[in-house]
Amino acid sequence: MIESICVYCGSNPGFDPAFRAAAISLGTEIGRRGQRLVYGGSHLGMMGALADAVLAAGGKVTGVMPGLLVDKEAAHRGLSELRVVNSMHERKMLMADLADGFVSLPGGYGTLDETFEIATWAQLGLHAKPVVLWNVSGFYDPLFTFLDGIVSAGLLRPQHRALIRQAQTLDEVYARLAEPVEASGGKWLPGDLR
Ligand code: AMP
Repeated sequence: MIESICVYCGSNPGFDPAFRAAAISLGTEIGRRGQRLVYGGSHLGMMGALADAVLAAGGKVTGVMPGLLVDKEAAHRGLSELRVVNSMHERKMLMADLADGFVSLPGGYGTLDETFEIATWAQLGLHAKPVVLWNVSGFYDPLFTFLDGIVSAGLLRPQHRALIRQAQTLDEVYARLAEPVEASGGKWLPGDLR
């Protein structure tokens, strides 16, 4: 049962209005389902639109932010809960612990970093929670091609490539979240791909 969803997304709105619209539709659905959003705690860009939508739909939002960013007034002041931590590393760990599943929307370095870190932790068997990338407006098509190329190059196992699930619509996001996760830890050793 997924009660709490961690969402990674841009701290900018991006130029395609579909990005913000996707953040709002996901936030509205999280609130409608009575789930909790866990996210980076900002009021900016897609992140702010997402949190506002969850709150407007009656849902709960936990923001996790390092003190440094709170001081820079990036924090959303209307959240159900703001957890202030000491570092970006601590933040990513707490966000991962608090969530039952992860959804990435379009974003920049921060979003990519969070998505690949959580997929790496799944690959190592450190958690068995679903990771879904919502490919809004085909934004992630080049990334999917690149990931397939990593498999072809012999640097990523196909079953680990599959740890990053793909969704084209909000319905698919929830369908992918509901699929069981095969624990990958223990069946392989990092670096034994041949
Ligand atoms: P980016 O994709 O580079 O815009 O970074 C957004 C992602 O990184 C979000 O999922 C956040 O968790 C984190 N992040 C980056 N910048 C901020 C910020 N100003 N405030 C809070 N979180 C941020």
